[in-house]
Amino acid sequence: MKVGIYCLDCLRENGLPNFRPLVVTVNDERFFEMTCSNGHQTLTIIQEPKHEILFELGMNALADGYPREAVNSFASCMENFYGFCINQVSLYKGVDRAALDAGWKYMAKQSERQLGAFVMLWLNYFGSAPKLLSEASRSFRNRVVHQGYIPRLDETLAFGDDIVACVASNLHDMKHHLDDDLDTIFISEFSARAFSQNQRVTTQSIPTTIGWAGLIQNEKVDLRARLIAIDKDKVTFQWPKF
Ligand SMILES: [Zn+2]
Repeated sequence: MKVGIYCLDCLRENGLPNFRPLVVTVNDERFFEMTCSNGHQTLTIIQEPKHEILFELGMNALADGYPREAVNSFASCMENFYGFCINQVSLYKGVDRAALDAGWKYMAKQSERQLGAFVMLWLNYFGSAPKLLSEASRSFRNRVVHQGYIPRLDETLAFGDDIVACVASNLHDMKHHLDDDLDTIFISEFSARAFSQNQRVTTQSIPTTIGWAGLIQNEKVDLRARLIAIDKDKVTFQWPKF
């Protein structure tokens, strides 16, 4: 998946942004070393948490005609969201980073353990069970991921809609209990990634289908409309093939 990143040094020097984005391939760290058309060398981190990027990978796979791959990325988005909440809410509540890392290693490779931890996190801190995927969605995911089922577009979009509903509902729980501290949680996550580089890093936001700020404000997420927008972006920016 390609994303467009703008050079902030151009903005600092000229007072105007460089309107030609640098097209980069998204990576696991969401960290990019770039040289712009004016010769600035910059290190940029995408602010978006990983679950948003995983969902976007799924949307791009769907736009390219690969529903199986989309389901895989959507499912990873959901699991990654559990991990994001477990880690970030625990840190916010004062759990020591080293202790958290020590505990996380017992869950890191087993998604069912993470799901259990996520449910207990909600019960402990928010006083209710979180919204989880429906039984139909879990069954659909297992058919695709484990049994080689090739899904139709409408089935894949329905699965994506269930994930959007789960992430949005759980974010609303967080917002209800944490209020503006929810912003702090998201900012802390990308700030920690930036500081870990030990060098000058700029951070930048990119639009995503399930951007947390939009979900909190009840912005409607229309996956079919978003697929059309992703296709238009490809033409506008002339994304290279790889
Ligand atoms: Zn520049």
